[in-house]
Amino acid sequence: MPTANTFAGPAIDPGPGPLVDPYGRHVSYIRVSVTDRCDFRCVYCMAEDMTFLPKRDLLSLEELERLCDAFVRRGTRKIRLTGGEPLVRRGLMGLVRGLSRHLVTGALQEITLTTNGSQLERFAAELVDAGVRRINVSLDSLDEGSFRAITRRGDLPTVMRGLDAAQRAGLAVKINTVALKGVNDHEIEPMMLWAHGRGMDLTLIEVMPMGEIGEQRIDQYLPLSRVRAELMERFTLTDLTYKTGGPARYVKVGETGGRLGFITPMTHTFCESCNRVRVTCTGTLYMCLGQEDAADLRGALRASPDDALLDETITAAIRRKPKGHDFIIDRSANRPAVGRYMSVTGG
Ligand code: SAM
Ligand code: SF4
Repeated sequence: MPTANTFAGPAIDPGPGPLVDPYGRHVSYIRVSVTDRCDFRCVYCMAEDMTFLPKRDLLSLEELERLCDAFVRRGTRKIRLTGGEPLVRRGLMGLVRGLSRHLVTGALQEITLTTNGSQLERFAAELVDAGVRRINVSLDSLDEGSFRAITRRGDLPTVMRGLDAAQRAGLAVKINTVALKGVNDHEIEPMMLWAHGRGMDLTLIEVMPMGEIGEQRIDQYLPLSRVRAELMERFTLTDLTYKTGGPARYVKVGETGGRLGFITPMTHTFCESCNRVRVTCTGTLYMCLGQEDAADLRGALRASPDDALLDETITAAIRRKPKGHDFIIDRSANRPAVGRYMSVTGG
């Protein structure tokens, strides 16, 4: 009997159909990094001194659209644009508008993006106009000095104006906060009250060991099990079945009426329900955030204007989607589980 690992699909390929991996998981969600560049240098994400990729290595906006189209044809229902900072990619709104035709046909359920908020004041209304309804904004502190220290160059009032613009334009905003030991642990409760007070969900994220950032991960890592236990001393947290299609587990906070999410790659396995893959800004398809195996879609895109090779490369890659990741942070393994930066893979 074939085991899950040896399952290689039918002998005769019926052609591009839905993308189902060897463990029966439907790939219906792609996260696409549109640039490795960013106007911030968050301490857990990038080194101070980053060398960015030459422009020729990046997928053009047309290539990005062709790639997304190929996934939509195979049943992708949700696209998240990320980076780097997606809103610093010139012409990004053209890509969003191009992809939004799939919203009109109903092939795609949602286009969304993850942003640091620095450019939101300028783009919020246009995003709504192009069909975006929800965005995630990453924000790790409400203190100007600490925000600057974490992002190394971010300006909190600018991000706040961006958030105002986003909510005014009608975007549903979820705040993502990376929990950092000794940096923002004391801010988690005030940030939750602030976010819920503005009608925004808050999701806490454990720091993941990605990329050489010149700091010791063990010094940043704050297990969310501890954060949750501390919050439970002061708040009533009720588990929710609510899912956004992502790995967060949500609770309802009785006292605020708001939702709080926990993304715990370190203390919990969320791989069994993983429905996603990631594409970097250079067109490398990663089937798992925490594994090195990848497929080169840029080569397939550039080799031929027709999509046969692209479809074939995607099919072969999904058949290799691994069961899960092997992140570890401990003193004996103080090195990244994967060498690439989150800003390259897209968070
Ligand atoms: N620049 C955008 C932003 O910050 O929202 C999008 C890209 S960023 C890489 C996406 C998300 O990844 C952010 O919420 C960020 O906090 C998170 N992130 C980056 N590096 C991380 C790491 N090592 N561990 C956990 N989360 C990380
Ligand atoms: Fe830029 Fe986002 Fe990485 Fe911060 S987390 S450096 S904002 S890509």
